[in-house]
Amino acid sequence: MNDTESAKSSDRTESLVEVITTDPEFRCPGCGFDPGQLQPSSAAAAARSFGRRWRELFDSSSDAVEDRSAALTQPDDGGWSPLDRARRVALVLDAEAGALNVVWLRDRPVLVSPTVNTDGPVGTDVDDVLSSLATAGEFLARRIDDYGVDGWDRVGIREGREVSALHLIREAIHEGVHHLRHAADDLEPLGVHDLERDGD
Ligand SMILES: [Zn+2]
Repeated sequence: MNDTESAKSSDRTESLVEVITTDPEFRCPGCGFDPGQLQPSSAAAAARSFGRRWRELFDSSSDAVEDRSAALTQPDDGGWSPLDRARRVALVLDAEAGALNVVWLRDRPVLVSPTVNTDGPVGTDVDDVLSSLATAGEFLARRIDDYGVDGWDRVGIREGREVSALHLIREAIHEGVHHLRHAADDLEPLGVHDLERDGD
């Protein structure tokens, strides 16, 4: 059991490195998201949409199999279940909202990497996780609204590198989009889709 847990833990770390990048030219090969195009007003709208979009995805999957087991199923490659992904997004949105606040309040603060505490307080019950995700999305959106129009180039220092306020929110929204897309892909054999993605 310990071996399984440590393998899972390293998977989480690896996935974070893949998703979070400071390269301004970055376009995610995993989900196609282009963080460089995302401005604060649309980031706030996206953050607010996550609770609903994730819930719709999980509701569709439970309609398909008449319970919520699909959300808990690990894919064949041993990666994250859709619920693991939702849980992780809730934690990252919350962490990034906190980091945004600190960057606003202080000059060049040292930021804790969101790779830390991925096994944080969000539970494993589907409704609890979805509720946490919606709350974290709304929390981030309010932080973005409160931030105002200026100061998006203010920076914090994370792991020795400067990261701007704008980067923090792009990174946060990418997390939500990236994992939603992968969760939808994993649930697709059940006939489940992320409706907004299909409408893109
Ligand atoms: Zn991505």
